[in-house]
Amino acid sequence: MTTTDKDYYAILGVDPKADPETIKKAYRKLAKQYHPDANPNNPKASERFKDVGEANAILSDPRKRAKYDQVRKLGAFGFGGARPGGTRPGTQQSTSFSFEDLGVGGFSDIFTSIFDRGKKEEARKPSGPARGENVEYTVEVPFMVAATGGKAPVSVPINEECATCGGTGGAPGTTWKQCDECRGSGTVSFGQGGFAVSRPCPACVGRGRRAEKVCGACGGDGKVHQNRKLEVTVPAGVDTGSKVRLTGRGERGTKGGAPGDLIITFKVVPHRFFRREGNDIHVTVPVNLVQAMLGSRIRVSTISGRKVVLRVPPGTQPSTRFRIRGQGISREGRRGDQFVEVKVEVPESLTEEQQEQMREFAESSGMKW
Ligand SMILES: [Zn+2]
Ligand SMILES: [Zn+2]
Repeated sequence: MTTTDKDYYAILGVDPKADPETIKKAYRKLAKQYHPDANPNNPKASERFKDVGEANAILSDPRKRAKYDQVRKLGAFGFGGARPGGTRPGTQQSTSFSFEDLGVGGFSDIFTSIFDRGKKEEARKPSGPARGENVEYTVEVPFMVAATGGKAPVSVPINEECATCGGTGGAPGTTWKQCDECRGSGTVSFGQGGFAVSRPCPACVGRGRRAEKVCGACGGDGKVHQNRKLEVTVPAGVDTGSKVRLTGRGERGTKGGAPGDLIITFKVVPHRFFRREGNDIHVTVPVNLVQAMLGSRIRVSTISGRKVVLRVPPGTQPSTRFRIRGQGISREGRRGDQFVEVKVEVPESLTEEQQEQMREFAESSGMKW
């Protein structure tokens, strides 16, 4: 697992609330400043160049940025932010930022992917249409919606090919000139430990050419960030980690290519009354001392919304569990049960008279106190 304690905002010199445009500008400026071509044999600049690229790869992608912000907010990197619960053992792993959380295999993948984007665009020029990327997104659903099924509103951050420029990054009707950074080759090479590494040019993202006038809609990126709002059908009985695939609802394809898929992972928000274990529902219900001793009928809520009358027999012991058949979660043709654990509540204070009555009760039933 690759982890980092880097503050990407500090690396780009932008505010954590900076908008995508500001981040893009800061990245471009710094990428140029620390570009290996401009700093031959300068390992520090090369290091900065890598950091800047890494920061941009995370912060320019709304989903990766949101995840990174979450981890950053937990104070995992030690730059401000409360660390909830202190440094309990076993919590480090959950608060350290991992590239795996971002769905990439580590630093080199990120590094490769930002530069490969240029390569891919070039590679796809002759091959024509390309399928859009799949988008993965986690959706929180209320417990009851997950239990009985329903709909959940979703707003998915998505990168899409800019409709204005068709992904070229140039303003409509602009003229194109050769990129001076890479002299039109689309790649740059820089030395690293005695051998040269070739990368797509960051100035023109591997296109080899730059627009005289960049597209105003995407700032020359060829991509726009959008929040796609849709309603996801939540199948009855989904649990945390359940996934659904919405075919064709991912990123749009380029040059007429098919769109990618949207893969939704559900995260079920706990309920204050119902707990779930598999298809069974567990609840704890308070009964008073007299109900437990003399027996009673109590009304218990179920996930169907109906209340069920449960008979508590005389002499019920604390923590006794009752089963209400068929009131659990119905999933794939099987229906779970509801388990009701009674919590016997003892009065916290008694009047003088009640104390006297309890002593009489104790004597008559042979209890000592
Ligand atoms: Zn270039
Ligand atoms: Zn555009």
